This record gives sequence, C-alpha cells and structure tokens, in this order.
Amino acid sequence: MQGRVQFSRDVPVYAKADVVVIGGGPAGTAAAVSAARSGKKVHLIEKSAQLGGMGTLGNVSVFMPIGNVTGFYREIIADMLEQYLPPQHDSSIIPQYSPFLLRHYLNEKMRKEGVDVFYHSDFVGSVVDGGRLKAVVASTREGLQAFEAQQFIDCTGDARVAIDAGVSYSSGRESDGLTQPMTLMFTMQDTGKSVVPILPEGCPLYNDVDDLPQGRRLYWEQNGDGTLLVNMTRVKGNGAKISDVNRAEPEALRQVFGVVHYLQRNGFGTYILSHVAGQTGVRETNQIRGLYTLSEKDISDGRRFEDVVAQTNYEIDIHSPDGGKATDERPVSGYDIPYRSMVSAEIANLLVAGRAISATHVAMSSMRVQPTCYALGQAAGVAASLAIDHQCGLRDVPIAELHAWLQLQHVSYIKP
Ligand SMILES: Cc1cc2nc3c(=O)[nH]c(=O)nc-3n(C[C@H](O)[C@H](O)[C@H](O)COP(=O)(O)OP(=O)(O)OC[C@H]3O[C@@H](n4cnc5c(N)ncnc54)[C@H](O)[C@@H]3O)c2cc1C
Repeated sequence: MQGRVQFSRDVPVYAKADVVVIGGGPAGTAAAVSAARSGKKVHLIEKSAQLGGMGTLGNVSVFMPIGNVTGFYREIIADMLEQYLPPQHDSSIIPQYSPFLLRHYLNEKMRKEGVDVFYHSDFVGSVVDGGRLKAVVASTREGLQAFEAQQFIDCTGDARVAIDAGVSYSSGRESDGLTQPMTLMFTMQDTGKSVVPILPEGCPLYNDVDDLPQGRRLYWEQNGDGTLLVNMTRVKGNGAKISDVNRAEPEALRQVFGVVHYLQRNGFGTYILSHVAGQTGVRETNQIRGLYTLSEKDISDGRRFEDVVAQTNYEIDIHSPDGGKATDERPVSGYDIPYRSMVSAEIANLLVAGRAISATHVAMSSMRVQPTCYALGQAAGVAASLAIDHQCGLRDVPIAELHAWLQLQHVSYIKP
C-alpha cells in the first residue's frame, strides 16, 4: 500500500428490486432464478459479458459428480444435456458441455424467468446502514450506479460484497493463507489431419509428463465430437490479489502454448488450439466466517444438518497451493452443507452463496464444484424471498418453509 485517499460521491440509483444478486456464476444464476420463481423482482449484476462464471468465462466445461442431480442443476442437464440425465436424482454424472451453449442457455433462462441482468456491471462498493445493506454500487458502462433492494446475495465467488460490507472472512490454508493455484483452461479440436506444433517465443518446452505444470495429463474428450477440454496449466497465487493475477495471466497463457505443443507431439498430432478461456480460472480466494463453518471433520464424518441446503460426495480435491505439482485427492462418502454457512453474522440482509461460503480450506476444496454452487444459490434465492415475506433477518428464515419451497422447486435431498 502506498498511502490512502478519500473517495466520496453521490451516486444515482439506477434500479430497485426485491432481491439483488451480485455475480452471475453457478450460484448467482441459480439464486436469481429461484428468487424470481418465488415471486420476487430480481436484478442480477455481472461484471463480465456472460453468465456461468468459471463454467463459461473460465471454460471449465465439465460438471463434477456430487451424487445428487437435483433442482436447477438437474433442469440444466435435462434441457441441455439430456443424454446424461439420470432417472433418479441420487446419482453421479460427469457431463462435458459446450461453454458457449451454457452461456446462451443461461441468458435465455434469465429472460424467461423475468430476471433483469446487468452485464458489464462490476460491484465496487456497498452502502451499509445499521447492520443492513441498503444498496450496492457498480461500475457500469454509464459510470457508477447504485442498485437498491431489500435482500442481497453475494455470488461473486470472492465474497467481494460481504467483505466490503464488513463481514469477517479468511483466505486459504489456515496454516499460511495460501490458496489453491489458478488454471487457464483451454480446448483443442481434432482436425483429422496432421498439424505442425508451434511453440511461440517465451513459452515453456515440456518434453515429459514430469515437466508439465501439474505433473500429469488431465483432459476430457467424452462427447465424441473431437473436442478436447484441457485442465493442465497451474499458476501459484490468490486470484483475488492484484499482483498475483498480474503475474498469473501472462504466465498461464505461456503454459497453454507449452501444453498444446506438448500434446500435439504426444498423442494429439491432429488437434489445434480452438479456444482459450477469457480469464485464468480461480479456484479459491476468500471464505466468509458465517454462522457455521463447514470443516474437514464434517465432510469426512459425512455430517448431516437439520438446515441442509446442498448435498455432495465430491472428493477433497486440493491442487497444491505452494507451487508444487501434487494434487491431494481423497474420497468422501457424502455430507450436507447447512444454510448457516451462507449467513453472515454482521449483515442481516446479505447471504453469500457459492464457493465463498463459510468453510475451511479443505472443506471448500470439496464443496466448490459447480453443481454444489448451483444448489447453494438456489437455496439462497428462496431464503432471501422468505426473509422478505416474513420481514425477518436472514438468520431467522424458517427452515421448514425453506425446505418446502425448495421441494416445490424440485429440489430433493438424499435421506441418509
Ligand atoms: C480451473 C478450474 C477448474 C475447475 N474444474 C471444475 C470442474 O471440472 N467441474 C466443476 O463442476 N467445477 C470445477 N471448478 C470449480 C467451479 O468452476 C467453481 O468453483 C464454481 O464455478 C464457483 O461458482 P460460483 O458461482 O461460486 O463463482 P464463480 O463461478 O467464480 O462465478 C462468480 C461470478 O461473479 C462475477 N463477479 C465476480 N466479481 C464481481 C463483481 N465485483 N461484480 C460483479 N460480478 C462479479 C464473475 O464474473 C462470475 O460470473 C473449477 C474451477 C477452476 C477455476
């Protein structure tokens, strides 16, 4: 830090809604839809040009298995990837999808559900009064604009709104604060004819698997259309830190070209680089300290909660935070995520849904995948709506009613 400056402005209120959702990734889109389906006027504020978060912008393009294909996530599979839809919800699927189709699907979904999306609107500040959020301010194509609502849901992945509003939080490993590394995802396409591998200047030469950034080959090619989805780059750092991101973006792109060059010489001699994500993917940044913090013990014990809002059996999956090539993968048998892990102690009308919920470093490595974030978002949208109906704080939302509304929205939980 190089000192401080004062910055204060009168900002016009651009729009008012019942619920404002900030961040249009898996959690945010699900939250917006479920609040709208509960009869509320919803505004969704997204800093980029697209919805889907890491799943589109970051080209993640594959849904990890969580053992419960339910609610809004199940609807996406049924509408877009019917061939993967399991007859029962308590199943595991790993569908690979087109990020372009998902982006289009989510745009259309918001229109059909009556959610107003504000693209290119980057949250910059919160207006807090007496422990309640009154408005959020975003940097838009028309400068700074405020968005007012009765309830807010922070789905930025980084708890950006919550932190700005004064909610306590932590980052990374409890021992040293290091987060999981970032990865720039890309896609290659089979052309059916030999291609000449090219390594642009400044990009690393990888000859062996051991040389690769993750020390392994990790890709998916399961839809039979010659699309190879590659998750093989790795850059140490925290994606919510300016200097780490400045270093990560060019370094990750250098690695992309190096990995492409490697793959073209090792089994994929007919494939070209066809798509690089618009930004380096960020796995882990900030976790709020909510009313309950999901722990490693909870997930290894398969803990169940009365106020369950999502269920998963996705493994503990920690890409080495310290710059090494290792990945710590450990199976888990299945556990619940409680509503309280989305509720902040400090702000009565703000929930945090998605990967930034209250969880330890190890617990978040399991709950962070997209289907779980869709489930958390869906529950958050309904909870925000109930808080309006009951004129209560989010911590006092009646759980039986929350569950009843979620059931009406086709959410099913596995009975342990
Ligand atoms: C490289 C990588 C590989 C992964 N692999 C898989 C996988 O194979 N399968 C899987 O299911 N999951 C995978 N994940 C995890 C998963 O993609 C994410 O954890 C998940 O997308 C998180 O969802 P979210 O809604 O919490 O946040 P995000 O997906 O991060 O979405 C946050 C949204 O908020 C927006 N936003 C952020 N800040 C602001 C702001 N200030 N103002 C307005 N909008 C803002 C962002 O633009 C984005 O749209 C992977 C993640 C990464 C990074």
